[in-house]
Amino acid sequence: MNISVVIPVYNEEESLPLLYERLHAVLSSLKKEYEIIFVDDGSTDKSWEVLCRLKEKDDHIKLIRFTRNFGQTAAMAAGFAEAEGEIVFAMDADLQNDPTDIPRFLEKIEEGYDLVSGWRKHRQDAALKRKLPSRIANWLIGRITGVKIHDYGCSLKAYRKWVIKNLRLYGEMHRFIPALAALLGARITEIPVRHHPRQFGQTKYGLSRTFKVILDLITVKFLLSYSTKPLHFFGLPGLLSSFIGFCICLYLSFLKLFYHIQLSQRPLLLLGILLIFIGVQFISLGLIAELIIRAYHETQEKPIYLIREKR
Ligand code: UDP
Ligand code: MG
Repeated sequence: MNISVVIPVYNEEESLPLLYERLHAVLSSLKKEYEIIFVDDGSTDKSWEVLCRLKEKDDHIKLIRFTRNFGQTAAMAAGFAEAEGEIVFAMDADLQNDPTDIPRFLEKIEEGYDLVSGWRKHRQDAALKRKLPSRIANWLIGRITGVKIHDYGCSLKAYRKWVIKNLRLYGEMHRFIPALAALLGARITEIPVRHHPRQFGQTKYGLSRTFKVILDLITVKFLLSYSTKPLHFFGLPGLLSSFIGFCICLYLSFLKLFYHIQLSQRPLLLLGILLIFIGVQFISLGLIAELIIRAYHETQEKPIYLIREKR
């Protein structure tokens, strides 16, 4: 199998037949083996029936149906787990991404990249509600993760198989895949893609997602920088806090011992003790996190590295 295309579907009945036509046209012209994996994320319209009808006509199609709506990230993860192709594409089901961009992604992969991300240079969505928050989010994610691409939110991306098979997706993390892939050591690039306004159905996201993205960013930053050394993360503020607390207490003890000053009147004493406590707490938290990390890697027999090649 050469190419897999993974498509999460949530109430997109009108778009699916057209999407299939366009995908089929592009994929069959490539003269490569391919599969199209639709993941029905608990649709409540006729999406599943439409998909089943398409599958009857074409056995390049694989279908997965969730018991309920688990979200786009889960749908992508299910598709990735099923994918057998050496190169795996993800795209939306709503025709906003354009299948005719696929060959250009393949060229980039052949140049040696492991992840090629689409950049919706002329994005066709609401300016104030969608484009502006997404601009800010992209800038922020780029700054914080160090993986500077223009458009994290574009679903149309191509991956080498090893990248998706090593990704662990949780929550709504599909938007951070380039940053997570960078953690795996993937070579990443982006290309401008076509983008169309939504023809049918409705978008599943609104403004509230921007705030969730910011929370997720904290998780991703932590994973990127400290997932194998959490004590460094918690330990440094812990040490600093303990040290300041210790100095304060030392100073107060000095006053008490040599100048016989009453400490009951000194709020500074409370601060000193508090800082020592906070410091101890932080360091203990870091140690517990170290234990958890070891348990995580050892129970899954998951190495702390990934090998690109051996000769
Ligand atoms: N989607 C999904 N489950 C969800 C929400 C969305 O599978 O809970 C799918 C949806 O059917 C579409 C893709 O994810 O194929 C992107 O969703 P949408 O087009 O609503 O997002 P937007 O393009 O507006 O960011
Ligand atoms: Mg869309």
